[in-house]
Amino acid sequence: MAGVEIDKIKTLNDVDVSGKRVLVRVDINVPIRDQVVGDRTRITAIVPTVKAIVDGGGQPILVAHLGRPKGQPVAELSLELLRDVLAEEIGLPVAFAAGFDSVEGAGDGIVLLENIRFLPGEEKNAAETARALADLGDLYVNDAFSAAHRAHASTAGVAALLPAVAGLQMEAELKALAMALSNPERPTMAVVGGAKVSTKIDVLNNLVKQVDKLIVGGGMANTFLLARGYDIAKSLAEPDLAPTANEIMASAKDANCEILLPVDVTVAKAFEAGAEYRVCALHDVAEDEMILDIGPLTVDVFNQHINECRTVLWNGPLGAFEIEPFGEGTFALAKQAAERTEAGHLVSVAGGGDTVAALNAAGVGARFTYVSTAGGAFLEYLEGRELPGVAALMASA
Ligand code: ADP
Ligand code: MG
Repeated sequence: MAGVEIDKIKTLNDVDVSGKRVLVRVDINVPIRDQVVGDRTRITAIVPTVKAIVDGGGQPILVAHLGRPKGQPVAELSLELLRDVLAEEIGLPVAFAAGFDSVEGAGDGIVLLENIRFLPGEEKNAAETARALADLGDLYVNDAFSAAHRAHASTAGVAALLPAVAGLQMEAELKALAMALSNPERPTMAVVGGAKVSTKIDVLNNLVKQVDKLIVGGGMANTFLLARGYDIAKSLAEPDLAPTANEIMASAKDANCEILLPVDVTVAKAFEAGAEYRVCALHDVAEDEMILDIGPLTVDVFNQHINECRTVLWNGPLGAFEIEPFGEGTFALAKQAAERTEAGHLVSVAGGGDTVAALNAAGVGARFTYVSTAGGAFLEYLEGRELPGVAALMASA
C-alpha cells in the first residue's frame, strides 16, 4: 500500500494498559458446524495479545464478528458459541455480553461481546456504533489484520475515538509485510499463481512496479503464454485477457521487472486423480491436453532465480496442486524457498488460502519467514491499496 509506515503505528508494547478497559478487535471468525468449532487457528492466534493485556493489568473486552448476519441477530451466529473454546485456549474465564449494556455488569475479567455484525451500523461504519464501542473502553487495540481491509465501525470508526494501537498479531503481520514489500532486501521476487488472471490483475500491476522479478505461474500463466502466441489447447485461460497480460508485461519492462514464465509444462487430458500426464515443451501441447503444472526444467530455472533473491513474496500455487502430481512444481519451489530461508539467505513471506494449503501440503509452512492467514486483506495489501484498519492506526499515532 501507499506505505504502511510501521514506525508510525503504536503497538501494545508502547502503552500502559494497567487499570484500563481495553477494547480489542479480534478475528475469531472460525468455521462452525452443528455448533462445533472446527479449526481453531484464529482463536489461538489472539491468545498472546489477550494475555499481554491481562498480564499488564488491563481488562480485555473482545469485539469480533462471526459469519455474515447482515446487520441483524442470527441465533446460529452468536459468539456465545465460542465462549468456552476461548476460555479454554486463553486459560482464563471469559464472560459473555449479549449487548453493549451488559458489558459493565459482566465483571472485571475478559469479556466477549456479541457478534458485532448483528448491528446494522457495524458494516456501515455508523458514527453511533463507533461511539457506542468507544464508550466501552479507555484504549482500542486492533489485532485483526484479516479484517483490516474493511472500513467498519469496529475496525476503523472506533479507532478515531480512542487511543488506538496494534495488537501483537497485527504488529507481526505488518512487520512481515513491510519486510516483503515496503522495505525489502533486494533483489526481490514475487511469485503469483492461482487459477485466473482476472482475480489478480491489480496484484500483478502493483507488484511489477515493486519487485525485481515476478514469476507468473498456475492457470494465470496460461493466459500469458497465449498472449505470447503459444497454443495452450484445453488449458484453463482467459483469452479476453491476453491484451491485459501484454500490458502487464509491457509495464514490467518499463519498471525493470523481469517477468518469468514457465519454459516447460506438465500436461494431462483431464484434471482428475490418476489422469495420465506428461512433461512437454511449450510449443508441444496437443490439442486434447491441458497445462496443469510447471515442468521440471521450469523448476530448475525458477529455483536459480530464487537463489539470486533476498526476498520472496508468494501468492498462489503454480499448478493444480490439489491433485497428484500437479503440485510437484509448487512443492519443489516452496522447498527451495524454505531451504534458502533456513540458511539465512532469504526472507520468505506467503499468503492466500490455497497458497497456505499448498505450503502445508509441501510441509514447509513453518519454514517460511512468515505465512499470513489473512485472505482478502493480504491480497488488497499486494494490490497496493490502503487498508482502512491499518490507516486508522497510523492516524491515531
Ligand atoms: P490463493 O487462494 O492462494 O490466493 P488462488 O485461489 O488464486 O490461490 O488459486 C488456487 C487455485 O488455482 C487452485 O485451486 C489450483 O488448482 C488452481 N490452479 C493452479 N494452476 C492451475 C492450472 N494450471 N490449471 C487449473 N487450475 C490451476
Ligand atoms: Mg483461493
